[in-house]
Amino acid sequence: MIKTISYLGLGVMGGGMAFNLLKAGYNLTVWNRSVEKCEPFARKGARVAETPGGAVRDVDLIMYCLSNDQAVEEVVFGPKGILSGIRDGQIAIDMSTVLPATSLREEEAYSKRGVDFVDAPVFGSKNESANAKLWIMAAGSKAVFEKVKPILEHLGQSIHYFGKNGNATAMKLVGNLIVALELEALAEGLVLAQKAGLDLSTVMDVVKVADFRSPLLVSNGRNILKRDFSPSFALKLMLKDADLIAKFSESLESPAPALPVVQKNLESAVALGFGEENASALIRALEKEAGVEVKARRAR
Ligand code: NAP
Repeated sequence: MIKTISYLGLGVMGGGMAFNLLKAGYNLTVWNRSVEKCEPFARKGARVAETPGGAVRDVDLIMYCLSNDQAVEEVVFGPKGILSGIRDGQIAIDMSTVLPATSLREEEAYSKRGVDFVDAPVFGSKNESANAKLWIMAAGSKAVFEKVKPILEHLGQSIHYFGKNGNATAMKLVGNLIVALELEALAEGLVLAQKAGLDLSTVMDVVKVADFRSPLLVSNGRNILKRDFSPSFALKLMLKDADLIAKFSESLESPAPALPVVQKNLESAVALGFGEENASALIRALEKEAGVEVKARRAR
């Protein structure tokens, strides 16, 4: 039975998940590159490790959620990385959004050391992570999945098993292709509505109830109208994901003709200095081109 857990990467997503593990009563060790993010966890009784290799000693389960493939490279494969401290019989779960090829590389390296591996990226954002309402994708051996499922249930509202390693990461990229296109559609729609002189609050009333509604369109639309671009999912991470999706779809010769449009707008928004804002700040690239600002006329 899993009793001791290490969580590495205490950003927007990892931080919420690590807190929920503490709340569920697990004996937790944490590590983060910027050490100050460990302090709130130390105050609640977590052990703080100095290196990834040190963090994973003497625990049953290792979990991490890092920005990108490069961060996984450093934290897992680096000189003081996870692989330097693991031992036979442990389980590792990578919850980052990375290329499926990276998940497969991790699985190979872990299996050589007798460690089981699950790739388990998530849907949902800051609030879903904090409130244990994530939608979790998981892949790896079924027996290992069954062992870690009770832990994942403390973090999410549903867990979806996808079979062999790499498949959960692939599903995450499939989902984020849809997310990217939804955000682009919302941005283009709102800019057009603004240009057409429509009342944008009424536009959002329709987006909320019509047959094309989605929670993602509603929450991002509402925040755009309030000009609230505080990051739940940073625009620079959406651009990172768009680049991963492009690589992944190219590797499978699967067409994704709308994706370059989104990549271009995300790149323009980054160039305008909005990379740290929420992904919905993608609209700022279109607003600049259109010479308008999308904003509610009346407060809601
Ligand atoms: P975040 O708040 O920026 O946190 C990123 C984490 O990775 C931080 O702990 C950061 O450490 C660490 N990190 C980055 N580069 C590193 C490196 N080279 N070495 C060591 N640690 C490094 O990002 P997030 O929003 O939590 O996202 C984390 C992952 O979840 C990403 O793959 C993202 O695509 C995915 N995701 C995000 C969302 C969302 O809505 N935010 C939703 C689903 C999936 P520092 O604190 O030192 O910077």
